[in-house]
Amino acid sequence: MADLTPTPDRPGLHVSKPSPNAPATGSAVCHCGATATATGDAQVKALVEGYTANHGAAHHDGGRR
Ligand SMILES: [Zn+2]
Repeated sequence: MADLTPTPDRPGLHVSKPSPNAPATGSAVCHCGATATATGDAQVKALVEGYTANHGAAHHDGGRR
């Protein structure tokens, strides 16, 4: 079974919501070295927004910061 959790070797954003009644969990690892995890729908939403705004594809310079 593949481990979907991002790692420094495979940076990315992963969100999981096992069931409608379970809180979402998320983890993010950026190629710049930033890492974050969140539990709960609101926290995961904030994590995703923060990651997409400041990390991942937002690193237009290629991740030098
Ligand atoms: Zn970053």
